[in-house]
Amino acid sequence: MNELRWGTPSTLRALLCELVSWDSRTLTKGERTFAPKVAEKLKELDYFRDHPSHLELHDAGLGRQAVTALYKHPKAIETIVLISHFDTVWTEEYGILEPLAFHPEELTKKLLEHKEDLPESARIDLESGKYLFGRGTMDMKMGLALHMQLIEKASVEQWPINLILTTVPDEEVNSAGMRAAVTELVRIREEHRLTYKLFLNSEPSFSQKPFDIEEYIYTGTIGKIMPAALFYGKETHVGEPMKGMTANYIASFLTQRMEWNPLFRETDLGESTPLPVSLQQKDLKLEYSTQTPYRAVALYNVFLLKRTATEVMDLFEQVATEAMAACNDSYQIICEREQVTGVGKVNVLRYEQLLEHAVKKLGAAEVERLKNEALQQDNWDDREKSLRIVDHLMIHCQELAPATVLLYAPPYYPAVNTSNDPLVIQSVELMKQTALSFNNKIGQKHYFNGICDLSYVNYGDNANGWAAFERNTPVWGDTYSIPFADMAKLKAPVLNVGPFGKDAHQRTERLHVDSAFVEMPVMLETLIKSMYPCQ
Ligand SMILES: [Zn+2]
Repeated sequence: MNELRWGTPSTLRALLCELVSWDSRTLTKGERTFAPKVAEKLKELDYFRDHPSHLELHDAGLGRQAVTALYKHPKAIETIVLISHFDTVWTEEYGILEPLAFHPEELTKKLLEHKEDLPESARIDLESGKYLFGRGTMDMKMGLALHMQLIEKASVEQWPINLILTTVPDEEVNSAGMRAAVTELVRIREEHRLTYKLFLNSEPSFSQKPFDIEEYIYTGTIGKIMPAALFYGKETHVGEPMKGMTANYIASFLTQRMEWNPLFRETDLGESTPLPVSLQQKDLKLEYSTQTPYRAVALYNVFLLKRTATEVMDLFEQVATEAMAACNDSYQIICEREQVTGVGKVNVLRYEQLLEHAVKKLGAAEVERLKNEALQQDNWDDREKSLRIVDHLMIHCQELAPATVLLYAPPYYPAVNTSNDPLVIQSVELMKQTALSFNNKIGQKHYFNGICDLSYVNYGDNANGWAAFERNTPVWGDTYSIPFADMAKLKAPVLNVGPFGKDAHQRTERLHVDSAFVEMPVMLETLIKSMYPCQ
């Protein structure tokens, strides 16, 4: 009789607490050491001791790694890919309790002494004893713990279906982990002649309102893209304002029209995207002076359900063209009032047009050199590098100014939805039924609204909808890329079934104990067993 290591609620809870205790905040040393630790843990299973080559670490950049662990039944071809991320957001909001953020049992006890500092709904949950608090409990080390439990049980009981546990870093920032894993998943499939039947993520079910305890499973995930602009005006001295045009003046017209713009709202299957907002708007002057700011940048957040990068760029260009027409009109009125000729009209162009112009004017080698100047700044992230590349090129192409240059800044998460897939329809029904046996009601959402790594599988656009992204992302192919072709090869429905929790990314992040340790193991096992090939 085989004793399972992680087979009971209490051993599963201990496993979760151990995973949480390995600090793996995004971009810390802990994020780099986490993958080898998980691999060591999985090596404790007989299956991986007997099949060491089925357990692999994959480079995900900056010293980080993704882990894949394949349980392969000798006769099975059909395979379920289990996806999780192991990085977490940071912990400063825990204040004096920060040292306990990675120790859920201690933190949950200690919080009772500080409960008057908690918001009401968190206090009630704490006193109920039904929740375990801590960074990463809900988002999403519980998902990883559940997948580890599944792969152990499957390998010991020799389930007639294959599972690939895939756990990745960097989900909270750039998803470098999942973008690296995609290519490996294609390779593993070929190497072992597998068929991928389902991509199963176990991100937590998010409550929609403070006292909402409805649980959801998700049959797709929302997408996100970041249109950005560099505004290039004309410098002058503050004493002679009419001799120039500030970038801030130009930027104000576009930001007014981008924020809350309903043109970017998408609706599908009764769900809608949140409206766009600006994430950043700043001038690029390095220090204070009385020279007017003539270069500025803005970054906007746009959510997606169906649209491709090409469609969003078309819309963005349309809005920018209208914004600059309004800018030019109001500037014209001011010039007439002040009886000056002005600095000219603001042009709108895409990054790809600027690049073409720059290559013609300066030559390809010089353009590469200018780009590299920005790419080599290790203290700049991909967003800053993108904006600075445009800035470097514009400084050498001032004949285009005044201008608004449109671009994309990373990351880009395509939307995915497989609600209409027969396997998904059947699985949703099964999950609803299974939940009823715990007196639980489960709802379906068509798009997971928390952004997740499922964006990088089952890419379904056959019309090169990503082309505008490749051509207008200045760091594309250098410090950022998305394996669109491999993503399109990972054709299988997606589903997210995970434990219930509340307040991800807050100091009150907490996991519902029964959902995580009692119900989810049954739900996930039932789901996987329903996919056994017909014998
Ligand atoms: Zn997450």
